Amino acid sequence: MRIKFLGTAAAEGTPAFFCDCPVCEKARKLGGKNIRTRSQCLINENLLIDYPPDTYMHTITGGLDLRKIESVIITHSHGDHFFPHDINMNAPPYNVGNVFHIVNYYGNGHIYYDLKPLADQQQNNITVNQFQLFEQTKISGYEVTPLRAVHDRREECLFFVIEKDGKRFIYGNDTGYFPDDTMECIKGKRFDAISLDCTTGKDRDGGNHMGFEDIIEMKKRLIENGNADEKTIFIAHHFSHNCGFVYEDTVKLLEPHGFLTSYDGMAIDI
Ligand SMILES: [Zn+2]
Ligand SMILES: [Zn+2]
Ligand SMILES: [Zn+2]
Repeated sequence: MRIKFLGTAAAEGTPAFFCDCPVCEKARKLGGKNIRTRSQCLINENLLIDYPPDTYMHTITGGLDLRKIESVIITHSHGDHFFPHDINMNAPPYNVGNVFHIVNYYGNGHIYYDLKPLADQQQNNITVNQFQLFEQTKISGYEVTPLRAVHDRREECLFFVIEKDGKRFIYGNDTGYFPDDTMECIKGKRFDAISLDCTTGKDRDGGNHMGFEDIIEMKKRLIENGNADEKTIFIAHHFSHNCGFVYEDTVKLLEPHGFLTSYDGMAIDI
């Protein structure tokens, strides 16, 4: 399974739109891996996780080919993960050459009710499906299990287990510490790769997001829960400019704790 992190930022991107804090200024100066667009992840070539406003940018510079995408699974309705305006770009007159390409969207109740009117107009070439929490669903050749995230209490925010050919990946962003029922659902299952939300970086959180110390603690809990061993690849992911560090400094900080630091375009094979 190839996992490609197309975007790795929180809502504001790095550098952030109007901001001149030290992290944003340093990112502007250094460029490269220090520049982060809003989070999105591609599995092989046909499954997409989240649909942020930078999806278009990822088709131009990130190697994303939306014509190969069969399904999109969405974590929650925040604007850095779900941008319905551009979902409509699969419909004429915005798409006139690939008009029979249907994309299947999956999400929580918010996503379902938001996209249902679009899906009901057949020319938009989308279907929309509501996830049932903890229920494994076959999607485009993968077994996908939606897990409960601790994030925005106004909706059931999700993150995902993705399995194929005996390989297992947890895609996490916008989670605090995994809640008890999620830990119970994955108990004893070993994963080849696990990405963890690292939005707040230098600041501890655990309630809506996680920071450096939180993900180190979370890694320990996952090992105790039977989810990881020395071969499991841990990835810190989804960074805010408020995390306090650009990519290059984050790598120095997290490497000793056995974490890769995600950057736009990073791909791993499991
Ligand atoms: Zn986010
Ligand atoms: Zn900033
Ligand atoms: Zn969010």
